[in-house]
Amino acid sequence: MTKGNGDDPKPGSRMERIQQGVRKRTLLAKKKVQSITKDDVKSYLLRNAFVLFTVVAVILGVILGFSLRSYKMSYREVKYFSFPGELLMRMLQMLVLPLIVSSLVTGIAALDSKASGKMGVRAVVYYMSTTIIAVLIGIIIVVIIHPGKGTKENMHREGKIVQVTAADAFLDLIRYAPLGILFLIAGKIVEMEDMGVIGGQLAMYTVTVIIGLLIHAVIVLPLLYFLITRKNPWVFIGGLIQALVTALGTSSSSATLPVTFKCLEEINGVDKRVTRFVLPVGATINMDGTALYEALAAIFIAQVNNFELNFGQIITISITATAASIGAAGIPQAGLVTMVIVLTSVGLPTDDITLIIAVDWFLDRLRTTTNVLGDSIGAGIVEHLSRHELKNRDAEMGNSVIEENEMKKPYQLISQENESEKPLDSETKM
Ligand code: ASP
Repeated sequence: MTKGNGDDPKPGSRMERIQQGVRKRTLLAKKKVQSITKDDVKSYLLRNAFVLFTVVAVILGVILGFSLRSYKMSYREVKYFSFPGELLMRMLQMLVLPLIVSSLVTGIAALDSKASGKMGVRAVVYYMSTTIIAVLIGIIIVVIIHPGKGTKENMHREGKIVQVTAADAFLDLIRYAPLGILFLIAGKIVEMEDMGVIGGQLAMYTVTVIIGLLIHAVIVLPLLYFLITRKNPWVFIGGLIQALVTALGTSSSSATLPVTFKCLEEINGVDKRVTRFVLPVGATINMDGTALYEALAAIFIAQVNNFELNFGQIITISITATAASIGAAGIPQAGLVTMVIVLTSVGLPTDDITLIIAVDWFLDRLRTTTNVLGDSIGAGIVEHLSRHELKNRDAEMGNSVIEENEMKKPYQLISQENESEKPLDSETKM
């Protein structure tokens, strides 16, 4: 964009070189858009092969699971069948603890105390506000839809204890190896109770949870990202697909953590100082999906018990659901366990958790995906809000390198000194 008002840069000046660079890049970008070749498509597919493979694995897992249901496998056969999936789970879980510790240490070490303090406050404010929004969505949706019609007589209860055998110990021996989401999902579907038990109320409850989670994941979180960063949230979410599908497959935000790191850092280019600082904490305490689900499920249990909740009790449920989601570990069905806190706080029967177990394996996957999305969008937002501190830190690091070079100067030739007067690389790139 030249103004043509006599402010044109002098020929050969730094300003002119910068403008030429910008023009060249714009032209190149235009050419690129005009000519998307077969090779481009091929390389795109190759680059995203892993994501595509993961998505295909989920689809195949669902198909395989449903087609094998007619064979009525025994509990043990199902366990053997889902073994490759369990291997993947264990492998991911194995990475989690060292990953959390090392990333927190490097994350904090890369920042000065002031910057990490500010970043920490931003992360906590984000976590608290999104969790409270999620709880409110859960409460509003379950009150509006009212899936529990005030009777639990015809509802199915579930819960069983299974013996451990010698074969389990053998399988334990080879649990270090990598394998797939396909078997995790297919195994779960084969194992699933007959659909018949998911009667009217439970089906309505499932739909209500799905609607609540969708509102939070598809409307609230992307909107928040857009309002704060002014960037397209769908491009950001597109880069997270692999993490989201892994969350769906594993039902564990902790086990997904290595993939979340990869997506955020390598695909979305989020600063590593931010991801390493906020992700491990986020995966442990920030669970929007779980918070929404806990509040919603508690009110559902109140509804099937014909238990009228007053305003104070609803506030109690919001507070305890928030606390229970913070306390829940990032492992499968942890939310179901911490729900005892929510139910006890308003005097609801904890036994009634067995009413919703039949669908929990499925809802757990969806809330885990929402949890991972919340953590990832949080990292993007915190990076944006902390951009000045990160830049200052970069400048400080740059200065210290320059200072180091200054110390070496007496030993350098005068011609090298002249070199340093040339514009910095970053300046010409701008
Ligand atoms: N499975 C969830 C997670 O790992 C926790 C829960 O059960 O809600 O994020």
